Amino acid sequence: KTQTDDFVIDDELILKIFKPRDDFAHKGTYGKSVIVGGSYGKIGAAVLATKSALKSGSGLTFVLAPNCGYEILQNTCSEAMFIEGGEKFITQIDEIENAVYGIGPGLGTDEETEKTLLKFLENHSSPLILDADALNIISKNENGLKLIPKKSIITPHPKEFERLFGKTENSIERLNLAKTKAKELEIYIVLKDHHTQVVTPKVKVLYNITGNSGLAKGGSGDVLTGIITSLLAQKYSWEEAAILGVWLHGKAADLASEKYSKESMQATDVINEIGNVFLDLN
Ligand code: AMP
Ligand code: MG
Repeated sequence: KTQTDDFVIDDELILKIFKPRDDFAHKGTYGKSVIVGGSYGKIGAAVLATKSALKSGSGLTFVLAPNCGYEILQNTCSEAMFIEGGEKFITQIDEIENAVYGIGPGLGTDEETEKTLLKFLENHSSPLILDADALNIISKNENGLKLIPKKSIITPHPKEFERLFGKTENSIERLNLAKTKAKELEIYIVLKDHHTQVVTPKVKVLYNITGNSGLAKGGSGDVLTGIITSLLAQKYSWEEAAILGVWLHGKAADLASEKYSKESMQATDVINEIGNVFLDLN
């Protein structure tokens, strides 16, 4: 493939994608997001993804998590609705009609959770966003990759990418492998890195240049999953949601680093800057 298929995500592209909110909107206009994640000891990841979905415009936001996360989720994400998915780990994933599912943050890889996710994937044909332990579970199953619905967005960091698709020597080889897999599986691969790359099923590559090393901390990826899920619920196309999502996430991180430093900024600070990024866009 030649350089001509590679683009940088710039302000012009973002302004073309971004749609201001309709004055006559009601909560049904902007869709339903369902964050599926959390397990005993990792409820925080579900909190971060859910808060991020709430901050990014989703009309209705649900979080499907185990019961051990009930109180913390209701307390920290009061605007979201809780769906019980098990006791300490997720052992049941209910289908909600016309909802967009973002699955993985803090999910864990308990054997029951693995079975539950694989069964859900077998019966679910519309696209999903898959991250973190959802990708780790898929990696461990020999038919896992085939279960990813077409058009889905997966958001692996380099280690998760390697678990899914195998080892590569360097980032160029990794990108080439991502192109092959995005085409073969007809999915969007968001290769998270310093300059995250969005690889489309048509093998277009878009480089994101927002974001900074203050994101090199636990919890950052969970924020991205929540943002992309929320944009999809609002009917951005899968390609648009991936592109706008990585850009917004990085831009919010840049604002957080200016306020708090790259050292001190936390995933929650990034979430709290999402609104300022939207203010700039509007
Ligand atoms: P995760 O590893 O799943 O928590 O995801 C980390 C997130 O932070 C991804 O969106 C990365 O692109 C981003 N990130 C991590 N380190 C850096 C860095 N040094 N520069 C820019 N973005 C980063
Ligand atoms: Mg992650």
